[in-house]
Amino acid sequence: MNEFQLLVDLHKDAVRQGPGGEEETKLALKLAGINRSKHYKIADIGCGTGASTILLAKELDTEITAVDFLQDFLDELLSRADDQGVADKITTLNCSMEDLPFSEGEFDVIWSEGAIYNMGFEAGVAAWNHFLKPGGKLVVSEITWLSATRPDELESHWNKEYPEIDVAFAKMGILERNGYSPGGYFFLPDHCWLENYYRPMQSRFSSFLARYGQSAEAKEIVECEKAEIALYEKYRNYYSYGFYIAKKL
Ligand code: SAH
Repeated sequence: MNEFQLLVDLHKDAVRQGPGGEEETKLALKLAGINRSKHYKIADIGCGTGASTILLAKELDTEITAVDFLQDFLDELLSRADDQGVADKITTLNCSMEDLPFSEGEFDVIWSEGAIYNMGFEAGVAAWNHFLKPGGKLVVSEITWLSATRPDELESHWNKEYPEIDVAFAKMGILERNGYSPGGYFFLPDHCWLENYYRPMQSRFSSFLARYGQSAEAKEIVECEKAEIALYEKYRNYYSYGFYIAKKL
């Protein structure tokens, strides 16, 4: 198994593959003014095993296209959606977020939690604008600085990992320059990282290592995740995922 397959294996049994929470997804819905009053056509891009997809399907009168480039995650999503009685509202699409086959103005809502960084925030919001109806809503979470200055260790870590990390007003400027009007912002509180994402991941480490006979490759993945968790625990006041709610002009 290569490193990528090992990573998929560590994450595919999780409820979510990044920080987030049900209350936070609902808050974003509220800020976007999306409710049961009408039918919505939604794309959930980088859906993983469907934490947000399944909640949206439960909360709304909707048809959702759930997009991810990992079939293992999409299979898991469909089986969970089936268990929770919402599979009929969801179609999965195995596709790169950088090469979506959608047509102009196809969606009322584009949703994406913890995934747009894979193609870069600016490239993503620019490309996806095309697929929204005028007046349609973009709801996207993106790693964001919570303060104007940061400790050097943290700054250099993120500048290496994701140089597009920035403060919220800069992200809103990007939305404005790409055909959107930003209408709401909040950032994910600690429990979305710790209780909802990192603690469940930590509880899978020992079975994961056992599955791969304590191999050096599996150990390296665990060490890497542990370092990410330690960084968050040390510097959590300085960064989080920001949730951006914007309307297509
Ligand atoms: N939205 C989910 C998953 C976030 S993790 C949640 O909040 O739990 C990021 C997801 O993006 C993963 O499922 C990963 O497989 C997917 N992904 C990464 N790069 C991608 C790409 N280029 N195209 C489509 N999906 C991608």
